[in-house]
Amino acid sequence: MKQDSKNNSLDKVRSHLQRECFNKLFIGGKFVEPIEREKLPTYYPATGELLHEFPRGKANDIHAAISASERAWTEGTWAAMSAVDRAKIVAKMAQGIEDNKEMLAEIEAADVGKPFRQAAMTLGGAANEGKYWCSLGEALDEEQDLPVNSGGGKGGLPPEEWNVVYRRDPIGVVGLISAWNYPLNVAFRKVCPALIAGNCAILKPSEIAGLSCMFIGKLAHDAGIPPGVFNIVTGDRDAGVALTLSPSVSMISFTGSSITGSKVMEACAPKLSQVALELGGKSALVVFDDTDLDKAVETTMKGFLTNGGQICTAHTRLIVQDNFKQPLLNRLKEELEKLPFCTNPIAEKNRGDRAWEDGKTDVVQPVVCDSQHKKILGFLNEAKAVGVEILTGGGVPDETIVGHSGGYFIQPTVLVNVGQETDVWQKEVFGPVLSVRSFSSEAEAVLEANSTKFGLASTVMSSDPARAMRVANRIRAGAVYATSTGEGILAEHPAVSRGGFGCSGVGRELGISGLHEYTELKSVNYTGFSLADAKIKDAK
Ligand code: NAD
Repeated sequence: MKQDSKNNSLDKVRSHLQRECFNKLFIGGKFVEPIEREKLPTYYPATGELLHEFPRGKANDIHAAISASERAWTEGTWAAMSAVDRAKIVAKMAQGIEDNKEMLAEIEAADVGKPFRQAAMTLGGAANEGKYWCSLGEALDEEQDLPVNSGGGKGGLPPEEWNVVYRRDPIGVVGLISAWNYPLNVAFRKVCPALIAGNCAILKPSEIAGLSCMFIGKLAHDAGIPPGVFNIVTGDRDAGVALTLSPSVSMISFTGSSITGSKVMEACAPKLSQVALELGGKSALVVFDDTDLDKAVETTMKGFLTNGGQICTAHTRLIVQDNFKQPLLNRLKEELEKLPFCTNPIAEKNRGDRAWEDGKTDVVQPVVCDSQHKKILGFLNEAKAVGVEILTGGGVPDETIVGHSGGYFIQPTVLVNVGQETDVWQKEVFGPVLSVRSFSSEAEAVLEANSTKFGLASTVMSSDPARAMRVANRIRAGAVYATSTGEGILAEHPAVSRGGFGCSGVGRELGISGLHEYTELKSVNYTGFSLADAKIKDAK
């Protein structure tokens, strides 16, 4: 009976996936077969069953998409439109996500293994974020021909007769390469600013779980984006490499691991093309002993278990004040061992990542795929081998506890006595694994928080506001939360720019800075006429 309901949910998703957009590439405004007609498989993480086979685009397909994009760029209609007009078209795409949220959430639940409830919430977030990006169309138009303050020659500034305006030009043909953990959100966060800024774009979603991203092609088609302005080529690493190497691609916006990010940068270096890199993290949760114990437990769980620990900002290093360590760990162990596993994410409508509203993560989802499962177990084995102690978890849960065999489940794991030099402290595990160290002074807390090469996010918990802010200010990360309650940890707002320090990234996303990443700043120095004259002539 239980197995039947699982099969029914999977069959329903498979029927969604019969639509053309989930079976073809989107190039030059048309859905087309990949040239070599190859396919890649994707599996349901809860059981390991085959979910779907989607096109494996290769270098030749990427080149076809680049040619279509170049034609659209050279023809110039899209770049010549006002940003407000481009945003009106992109807004239709954002609305399309909202209108199809249930279907897309079922697809992401089946593809990533995340509870339907969580997928629906984050997809709603993508639609809202799209609307936010569209609101920036007006801001971008207002930045065109913005006079540069001459300063009248004072203090070394240009003299008054210098007539200069700034413009924000699109970059050209841009490549968008995305990760699998929040597939549509990560991709749409690139698509919106790239298009609103006037670029022509090629999206290459992740081969591990990128099915929902393919729907963006249908949305672009239905919204009336001109042919070639937006293209999607699904495929693996080879397709990504071809996109980064092409001399016709003037910018790569990449979200993925730091190792791949450095390869992307290397590929772009010879042609000196732009890169925007949103990479991995190893975020710290620093907890002082004046924090409420319940709140500390809740925040720790939320920090490292949201999306099964597969979130770039996962707080996977707990740094706790010495005398607060034991009470916190005792409660954490008790709570973690009570958590149920999410055996059928597609049908999980009531639980999952309550982090986003109730302050709890109440169900443990499978990790995304077999290779990720093996990689996490490899980290755990290595930790055991170097003497790290396991407080709870540490491996694969028993089938009788999960409720069925198969599937890529890992027990929520807490590691103690973790050396600063160990891989589980220094590297991104990207699974439900927390490493713990302690501190005795504020200065030591800061040193511990800054003891990795990453710098994506971090949180400080204390009921002393001055201390919370002081420590937050000394942590080297692109997004820091200072809190007495843990409320808002992992939260993002599209208007608030963020990005990585160190190995966590290059550039900033979200907010107006995120839109500027997809533009080139240009100064136009004009003499012998007024700007008003130029505008009158232009209007004729
Ligand atoms: P990944 O680096 O393995 O792959 C990312 C994308 O790059 C995929 O589409 C892949 O096909 C492509 N790719 C692989 N090798 C390539 C190459 N040599 N050249 C060009 N493209 C190549 O990452 P992943 O496993 O898909 O995603 C998980 C990672 O993403 C984690 O490290 C996570 O922290 C990070 N992430 C970061 C953010 C952020 O905003 N900072 C958000 C989400 C995920």
